[in-house]
Formats: sequence, C-alpha cells, structure tokens
Amino acid sequence: MSGIEAIFGSMVFNESVMRSLLPHDTYDKLQKTIQEGRELDRSIADVVANAMKDWAVSKGATHFTHWFQPLTGITAEKHDAFLTPTGPGSVVMEFSGKELIRGEPDASSFPSGGLRATFEARGYTAWDPTSYAFIKDNTLCIPTAFCSYTGSVLDKKTPLLRSMEALNCQTLRILKLFGHADVKRVFPTVGAEQEYFLVDKSVYDRRPDLKYTGRTLFGARPSKGQELDDQYFGALKTRISLFMRELDEELWKLGVFAKTEHNEAAPAQHELAPIFTNVNIATDHNQLTMELLKKVAVKHGLVCLLHEKPFAGVNGSGKHNNWSLATDTGLNLLEPGKSPAENVQFLLFLGAVMKAVDEHQDLLRITVASAGNDHRLGASEAPPAIVSMFLGCELTSVVEAITRKESYLGPGKTYMETGLGIIPKFRKDTTDRNRTSPFAFTGNKFEFRMVGSSFSIADANIVLNTAVADQLRQFADELEAADDFALRVGKLIRRTFREHSRIIFNGNNYAREWVEEAERRGLLNYRSSVDAIVHLTDEKNAKLFERHGVFTGTELASRQDIMLEGYLKIIHIEALTMLDMVRREVLPAVVSYTDQLAGAALRKKQLGVPSAHEEKLIAKLAALTDSIYACAKYHRDVIFATMQELRAVTDETELCVSAKCWPYPSYGEMLFSVM
Ligand code: ADP
Ligand code: MG
Repeated sequence: MSGIEAIFGSMVFNESVMRSLLPHDTYDKLQKTIQEGRELDRSIADVVANAMKDWAVSKGATHFTHWFQPLTGITAEKHDAFLTPTGPGSVVMEFSGKELIRGEPDASSFPSGGLRATFEARGYTAWDPTSYAFIKDNTLCIPTAFCSYTGSVLDKKTPLLRSMEALNCQTLRILKLFGHADVKRVFPTVGAEQEYFLVDKSVYDRRPDLKYTGRTLFGARPSKGQELDDQYFGALKTRISLFMRELDEELWKLGVFAKTEHNEAAPAQHELAPIFTNVNIATDHNQLTMELLKKVAVKHGLVCLLHEKPFAGVNGSGKHNNWSLATDTGLNLLEPGKSPAENVQFLLFLGAVMKAVDEHQDLLRITVASAGNDHRLGASEAPPAIVSMFLGCELTSVVEAITRKESYLGPGKTYMETGLGIIPKFRKDTTDRNRTSPFAFTGNKFEFRMVGSSFSIADANIVLNTAVADQLRQFADELEAADDFALRVGKLIRRTFREHSRIIFNGNNYAREWVEEAERRGLLNYRSSVDAIVHLTDEKNAKLFERHGVFTGTELASRQDIMLEGYLKIIHIEALTMLDMVRREVLPAVVSYTDQLAGAALRKKQLGVPSAHEEKLIAKLAALTDSIYACAKYHRDVIFATMQELRAVTDETELCVSAKCWPYPSYGEMLFSVM
C-alpha cells in the first residue's frame, strides 16, 4: 500500500480494524448491530471497548471522548483520560464497555429550548455504533447521540437516525410490493459539497466583525470583484494548494472521502466535494470537514470563513446536499431503470419526492433558515427563498405526457407509448445543470442547494427523510390494499404527477417573473428566516414528525425556540459589534483624517469631503443606537407586557384550581412554610 491507500482511514476504528482485532463472534454481533440497525448486545460492549482502547493507544491516544452534536450546530466533546488508578501512585489504561456505551457530560449550557432546566446538568450521550469511532488530537472520539435525562432529544443525530429508520421502514414496504424480497435495509446516501472562503490571518485579526460575527459588517467595494470570473476553477495559488493538500490528508486519515477541491466563483472562495456515503456518516464527516477546514487553515496562516455571506457584493457560500436512496443490495432507487418494470418503480419514487417537496416546502425552507443564510437566499446568486424542483426537459416531458395520457416523443424522434414503463434512457449530462434551482434532479439523485455553508446537514436530511417516508407510507397503504397492483400503481403515479406538477420549474429561478409565477402557482415564499421559522410547529408539521417518531410536539417547539433565539442573538451581536467599531475606530479615524487635511492647509478645498462623512456617520450611528433602543423597548413594551398579561391570567387561574392539581408550590407555601 502506498499514498492515499496507506493513510486513508488510518485513524478510524473501521470494519477492517474491527475484523482484525475483535473475536469472531463479537465481530459478527457488532456487524449485525451496525448493518441491521439492531440494539447493541450489551455482553460484547466490554470486549469492543477494550479492543478500541488498545488500538487507540497504539496510535498514540491518551484520552477518549463522546463526540456529539448539540443544537449549537457544531460538535461537542469532553475529554477523559483512559487512566484508572490501581494503587498509590500507579495507574492502568482502562476503558470499559459502560464508558463506551454511555456518558454523562455536565452539559447544562447547551441549548435545550426549555427541555431541561440549566441547573439540571444531567444529559447523557449514547454510542452510535453505526458511525465509526476515530482518533483526533490524540483522543479517541466516539460518535454519540445526546439526550436529556428524561429522554428528550437534545441533538441532531438522534432525530436523523430516527428519520432514517422511518424511511427504511416505509421504503421496504414499497420494495416488497415490487418483489425485492432480498432487500433488508434502505438508507439515504448524501454527498455534501462544501463552499468556504480563506483569508489571511493577519488581515482577519484586524477585523473585529469577522472575529465576532464571521462576516464583514462594513467594507467598500474593491475596484475588482468577481466580474471577470477568473477565479472559478482557476489555477490554485501555492499557499492554497498546500493548504488543500494537507486538508485532504487529514480528512483521509479520518476516513472522509474528500475527492474534489477547486476554486469557486468568488475571489478567495473554494469548494470541497466528498464522495457520497450514508447520511449519518456523511453528516458526521461534514462536521469533521468544517472543523478541519478551520484548523488546517490556521496552520497555513489563513482563516477559513464558513459564514454564508462574509462579503457583500460577491457570491456567498452554500452547501449542496446531494441526496438519494440506496439499498443494501446496491440499488440506487432514484436511478431511472432499463426495463419498463424498473421504470415504474423509479417513477413511483420520483412521485414520492415530488409530493414530499411540494407538501413540505415550508419545512425545507425552515431547515435552511438562519440570520446568515438570509443574506443569500433570495438574493440573485443563491437559490431563491421559493422552493421548487428542477427535473430537466426530458424527464419533465415524460411527467407531462404521463399526466396527459399522451405519447411521448423521445430522443431520436421516436414516439413512445405513455404506458408507464417506457421512459427514455437518461444520459446524465442531459439532466443539465440548472444552477439556479433549489432542488434539482441530477441524473440519479436530488441536489438540495439551499443549505447554508455553516449548517449541519442533519436538519435538511431529517426533513427530507421524514417527508419522503410519509409519502411512501401513503403509497404503501394504497397499494397494499389494491387488487390489481399494476393498474393501481399506474393510476397513483399519474395522480401524483398531476396534483404536484406545480412544484416543477426548469427556468431561471433568479428572474423576477418567477416570483410572480410562483405566487400564481400558490407556492410559498418565506422571504426571511423569521417568516419561515414560525411555521415549524404548524399542525401539519407536528403531525408529520410525531407520526414517524422523529420529534414529539415538545421537541419540535423547543427547536423552534432555539432557532428564533439564535436569530435574535446574532442580529444583536452584529449590531453591538457595528456600534463598537464605528464608535471606537471609524469615527476617530475620520476625525483624525479631517485634522490631517486641515493641518495641511487644504481646509478650504477638501474639508468638505471627510467632514460631510463625519456628519453622516454620526447620524447613522445615532440611528442605529435608536434602533437598538427601539428593539430593547419592544422587548420591554410588547413582550414583557404580554408576559405580564399571561401572568395575570395564570395567577387568576391558580385561585380557581384545586391546590392538589396545581403543579407548583404556591406563594403561601413558598413564603410561610419555613417554621
Ligand atoms: P457536480 O454536482 O459538481 O456535477 P457530481 O454530480 O459528480 O458533481 O457529484 C456531486 C456530489 O454528489 C458528490 O459529492 C457526489 O459524491 C454526490 N453524489 C453522487 N451520486 C450520489 C448518490 N447516489 N447519492 C448521494 N450523493 C451522490
Ligand atoms: Mg453540485
């Protein structure tokens, strides 16, 4: 072995390591757990933990951590040494099955949206054996799910795993109807293309806005921007190329399938594309990628910006979430088939995705909502805030022909019957690259392009998995009850295409006319994140998630709170940073420059310029101070006042409800019970 092969996965406790280090029966039991999503056999935990520890120590590890994904959107870890004291002054390196399976981080400061009081620190992490453990910074990292003590979900991994299970379960029902008895498991595959900016560290250090908010809050346009398009796929600068080489190596060691690195459209913007894998691992890997982008950049005197819009006037950064459905027998269920029978199956899955996207436009929009992404969505560079689906000319013609029960004029100008099974063979390139579509079919997968560059891809995939699972559930209910499967499936596909074709749009999504057209079609257009987020808990959505056991109503509400709170906090921090920068640096600079000019006796001619700016700056500064005040006042006058009203009603209610039923100690008890 040499080169990539030698380092790829060298820091991962992957299948081949397990096979070589675990006893046969332990290995078999663990594989069953991993492949069939079964519960872990507790009896093997100690053996696995010990093998993991020996392997990790041989690679230089001294610590272990449960590695989890709280609702901050990034990952968290708390390191413990493998040490166990054996007597005065002596230790052994130990790691038990119990420590592998479950951890109790003192994690009271992670956002919980009210699911757990902050003083009640207890939350626990539980091993996810379907994602491999790995070594990073001399620490064995164990991917885990994170729950509150009462079992409420506090992370992004648990609902993702639940949504995968829902999708697996419903897809298997459909596949059974099509005679695929051999398929045991279905899972979504994802490849997440990551965009980012790199700036010089010394420049970054002098920009408080980049440091505190991740984006520039000021900055006049440079004389040259991205108008020449000379950056896109251009030759890499030496420093960037050295950075990318090291990044690739670090990612490969962790088993991340980093494949393509290139310059993006904006100056200083780049992209990394991995080879797709199952969505749970893809999500973990994308988190690692973001972490390593930042770490490796610093080693090269660079800073990696993952913000969606670090600079005004040049393109922002997104993440393209390529999504498909695979079986454990190696089928891609979104691959158009070669035979009529395979095509019916393909068209049914296509219909399921179409219906899911149409009925849950709001949820897809919500998964990409943030203060940062608001700068991108709807501006003329990223997909708009309107969710629609691109199918390309060929597939759209097929869908239309099926809807109208007409023949379809295929490539080569031969008429095809719209007997359902017959659709033209797709050449991948003809499913063109409509770069403006938020949700594009690209040959054998869908590419969801609205996700922000700093996001965890978990949320988007939780929604996609659950929404599609729910359509397949409805399809399976109908088809399982049918006497004539072939007849019924045809009708179902035709009906689905007819009822949901409004979601298909192959044109230019940036055009103003599309906004009007979309409105005529009744498609949603939530322009800002706040407009979108308030719909997360709509009845339709709560029911969807509850039906598939992905979120309870309470968990969903807590997520909505966290999103809104995050939004407010970001705007608040940006406003304060802005004030500080103008007050402490910009204004004094203007004043000093005015003095210089005056001192140089240019007062008469040129004084007008900077002093006019000085006045304008002071005016705008005052305006922003006023707005912040107005915002605080709004909190005080409206929110606080409403809270007071709610309190009044609650207090009145307390007096009318029997003391036994009232959930909290009364004032009487609190004030007079101490004897
Ligand atoms: P581009 O979109 O830039 O033309 P590709 O189509 O080759 O590039 O792939 C883009 C991304 O889609 C890659 O990360 C790739 O691994 C991923 N991808 C390819 N096939 C699938 C699939 N079946 N499921 C999920 N992702 C896929
Ligand atoms: Mg792409």
